[in-house]
Amino acid sequence: MQLIKGTEVAEKVLAECRRDIMELAAHGKKPGLAVILVGDDPASRAYVRSKDRKCRELGLHSVKHELPAETPQEHLLALVSQLNSDPAIHGILVQSPPPAHIDEAAIVRAIDPCKDVDGFHPINVAKLVLEDPTGFVPCTPLGCQRLLLEHGIPTEGAHAVVVGRSMIVGKPMAMLLMAKGKGANATVTVAHSKTKNLPAVTRQADILIAAIGRPDFIRAEHVKEGAVVIDVGINRVDDLIAEKGYRIVGDVAFSEVAPKCRAITPVPGGVGPMTIAMLIANTIKACRQAG
Ligand code: NAP
Repeated sequence: MQLIKGTEVAEKVLAECRRDIMELAAHGKKPGLAVILVGDDPASRAYVRSKDRKCRELGLHSVKHELPAETPQEHLLALVSQLNSDPAIHGILVQSPPPAHIDEAAIVRAIDPCKDVDGFHPINVAKLVLEDPTGFVPCTPLGCQRLLLEHGIPTEGAHAVVVGRSMIVGKPMAMLLMAKGKGANATVTVAHSKTKNLPAVTRQADILIAAIGRPDFIRAEHVKEGAVVIDVGINRVDDLIAEKGYRIVGDVAFSEVAPKCRAITPVPGGVGPMTIAMLIANTIKACRQAG
């Protein structure tokens, strides 16, 4: 069984980013990322701060806007509009989920698609479907595909089963894997909460991607011998022995699934570190495309 080490691949992607940033600097350009957080959810706040720290470490121009939970929609739209016209900003990201009074879809539509480094704008969704390389692909599925490529896992002709159909992971993951080209050309099945006899479906997978949001949901009975398993899940479970009172587990019951696998990602240290690395890569791409 091969452990797919996201931390190592993420370091490799970040090293490439560092080189790209230096190359851009030689031409007087500096990629800029603006992250907007509305509200005081501690997990989102920690996530936004770690993105900001990583960007600065790499020499990106990083701006973070931490707004109170009661920020009106119009204020948020005005900030997005201001960032859209700021030439120092190439990527804009609004940390999800915003408070309930905010219409997230409207905010995403207000972001200039050329700065939508999260890949959520309808133009970028369409570009993914059209296989237009100028589009931005959501960072987590992009990171999963890179993990497969870096570990030499063949996707062409493979049966990939994606469990989950969210706009942030499941759907773009399926689109990436069914596209033409490297790390793609797979035969893709998408499963979700209404899928009948899920274990029979997932057992067909040469590559199984779990993006469900339920701790240890994928068990040994869901997995074919020799499959490759990518666990996207990040779930907090209570753990009285842990210092923080909780620990992070994936959507896959690692200890019982791993022995059946050809390769598997751990949680933490698998898909997680790839997301931020791909966000930075997308911001560099946005800067290059801005000319
Ligand atoms: P989501 O929007 O809640 O989507 C979950 C998907 O799982 C839905 O499509 C849902 O089906 C499906 N599902 C739920 N219960 C199921 C069941 N019993 N059987 C089969 N399918 C079921 O979640 P998400 O945003 O895609 O995130 C999924 C997980 O990935 C979460 O743990 C999240 O924290 C993690 N995540 C990690 C990263 C990272 O950087 N590593 C990034 C994003 C998300 P329906 O559509 O029918 O409801």
